[in-house]
Amino acid sequence: CRASSGSHDSSPRKHDIPVHGMSEMIVGVLGGGQLGRMLCQAASQMAIKVMVLDPQENCPASSLSYDHMVGNFDDSATVQEFAKRCGVLTVEIEHVDAATLEKLEQQGVDCQPKASTIRIIQDKYLQKVHFSRHGIPLPEFMQIDDLESAKRAGDLYGYPLMIKSKRLAYDGRGNAVAKSEEELSSVITVLGGFDHGLYVEKWAPFVKELAVIVARGRDNSILCYPVVETIHKENICHVVKAPANVSSKIQKMATEVACKAVSSLEGAGVFAVELFLTEDGQILLNEVAPRPHNSGHHTIESCYTSQFEQHLRAVVGLPLGDPSMKTPAAIMYNLLGEDEGDRGFDLAHQLIGRALCVPGATVHWYDKPEMRKQRKMGHITIVGPSICKVQNRLDSMLNKEKFNSQ
Ligand code: ATP
Ligand code: MG
Ligand code: MG
Repeated sequence: CRASSGSHDSSPRKHDIPVHGMSEMIVGVLGGGQLGRMLCQAASQMAIKVMVLDPQENCPASSLSYDHMVGNFDDSATVQEFAKRCGVLTVEIEHVDAATLEKLEQQGVDCQPKASTIRIIQDKYLQKVHFSRHGIPLPEFMQIDDLESAKRAGDLYGYPLMIKSKRLAYDGRGNAVAKSEEELSSVITVLGGFDHGLYVEKWAPFVKELAVIVARGRDNSILCYPVVETIHKENICHVVKAPANVSSKIQKMATEVACKAVSSLEGAGVFAVELFLTEDGQILLNEVAPRPHNSGHHTIESCYTSQFEQHLRAVVGLPLGDPSMKTPAAIMYNLLGEDEGDRGFDLAHQLIGRALCVPGATVHWYDKPEMRKQRKMGHITIVGPSICKVQNRLDSMLNKEKFNSQ
């Protein structure tokens, strides 16, 4: 089923040694983007086979996977066919066909995390309803069905007002801010109108955005990674600092909210919990991703067990690994497409060239076939003795780039 070269024979290879009893099990991942690619990298170190389902022949995970089935992860027949080839199914994206996963679970297919979790998470409004029922602190929210209900929400929550699409959201696509009642109509049009489902959130006056990766094993054991700070630019994650520079009280609160949120969901794997720290010291949940996440990329270099290894351990039923940091500090910088085509590649390669000269820096390039503006093309993680030091190293890397491109 692999379209690209280097395909594997689907029969077990003779030289496979079942070191942990898992090397014959195929982990099926719905989606073959950068998260799938980094899962494949972790799997290869552990002699675990990862097969990906992705419509793009040259998706980032394709060349590193044990096998790649070219097909849509939101198409029922394709997902069912894919499931037959795998020992356990997991996801690197939540926008998959949840109804088919539910059906497969009823037939005894092992999905981790559970289909119920994917169903809740993939609809951000349903997700908010779920977490509010479980007593998780959230910005206030309400569904809007027409301009009148949007105006009522504006009266209630004030402006700026965050308007969000319920489904298919990522990197802020699907979010728009109305600064006043007059802007409501045009913002709603930009989001495609009411047909696909919209809801509003009260503006969260955050001073910092934090994130916690929570891992849950098949035996229900739970381990949390250190709290990180995420810095977004135009709704897209830009920089992650680990650990977050917040008091131990805030770290504890953030970890407790994250654990409580994940405890309300079913299944094994890693879950990323995005949080707001408000001016008055409250922690509010923004959203949860039921999979490895951009806020956890630093763990590859900075933690004893990366989020990708942890996800694989969790879904196949191995013991969870140590999530603590093995370096005092890390900073992750996303390589976002700055321009279309060749110029975009040139700019990214200039920056990579600089990163290679920075102590403690590791470059990850996702090998996406096309460069687009604001697209996540890769990332750089810098580890070092303190947050101050890694920040300085990042600053010098970026300033040099600016200097050169002038
Ligand atoms: P992701 O790529 O993380 O899945 P997304 O498209 O689901 O992103 P959100 O996480 O809902 O988008 O929002 C993106 C960013 O917008 C947040 O990280 C935060 O910076 C800002 N944001 C979201 N909700 C609010 C809010 N209620 N008040 C203020 N800012 C918000
Ligand atoms: Mg999201
Ligand atoms: Mg988000």
